[in-house]
Amino acid sequence: MSNTKLPKLISINSNNTDNIEHICEDLDLYGTVVVVTGTKTKEILGKHIENLLYRNFRVKEFIVKIGSTDEVKLLENIDSDFLIAVGGGKTIDVTKVVAYKHNVPFLSVPTTASHDGIASNRASLRSFGQHYSMETDSPIGVIANVDIIKNSPYELISAGCGDIIANITAIKDWELSSKKTGESYSQCISSMTMSLIDSIKTYSNDIKSRNDIGITELIRSLILSGISMSFAGSSRPCSGFEHMFSHAMDQLNSKCFHGHQVAVGALISSYLHDIDWMSIRDLLTFLNIPKNYKELGLSKNLIKKALVLSREIRSDRYTILNEKKDDELIIAAEKTGVI
Ligand SMILES: [Zn+2]
Repeated sequence: MSNTKLPKLISINSNNTDNIEHICEDLDLYGTVVVVTGTKTKEILGKHIENLLYRNFRVKEFIVKIGSTDEVKLLENIDSDFLIAVGGGKTIDVTKVVAYKHNVPFLSVPTTASHDGIASNRASLRSFGQHYSMETDSPIGVIANVDIIKNSPYELISAGCGDIIANITAIKDWELSSKKTGESYSQCISSMTMSLIDSIKTYSNDIKSRNDIGITELIRSLILSGISMSFAGSSRPCSGFEHMFSHAMDQLNSKCFHGHQVAVGALISSYLHDIDWMSIRDLLTFLNIPKNYKELGLSKNLIKKALVLSREIRSDRYTILNEKKDDELIIAAEKTGVI
């Protein structure tokens, strides 16, 4: 297991971003800051944060549009003492990579709660239409404004729930690999990660009605899910076959949210692992998370192709895929009602 740096500060409440200036000072962040944000998220929060910082910091701005390696190169050319990512996954991932390469600290200020990359030490970037995952450092602090996040579209919130629910089959794959290949495995990290799914179940009504309690629990779960990967020194606690399936869907140009894709992958994987897939389906239904090709807005054929293509994604990682043939994958998708 790793000794990766963890965030020094995690703040989840409704007015924390108004204190950004003091938060930076408390974390010994001074000098020139680049506020990395998106076109929409600049209007939602990025501009406000820049205005608060002008008094005590030299402020520069960088807009992320697609989350690409080209944007990493452009941001790398801007001198700074620290970075603040204000936005969704693409913005945070570009910031993470630049901060890691140049060994400068960064703050994560998510405007959505759609996946567990908010506080993780991993980033995913686009280059020539492909997605690449890479290791980075975790943010020095995570400042999640509940008021902003609860007003984001519900499909982003349900995607965040899907990314947590998918941990159930990621853990099963990790367990399986430790039995079959002797891969290092931690019961403690598994239990912590599994408890996050219980939290989503317990607070499902609150999450669905987007009240402060529910959204706070979702954000907390996503942050802890990201931190579990730092503890494990790999993405294993949160990424198994269901994530390989999602990456395969990305390669086939699916435009669905990551959290929705991995949730559908988890449904198929739970059938293959012979665990209670029906209770997972019921939870997806309750939270309005897509659970079949129609709700994802895709064709049956794309799902079938993605299942087979999953074998080519991270083939070094032992998962339930290693024990099943292609036709068994298709049958699992049919039996669970995904296709
Ligand atoms: Zn994920």
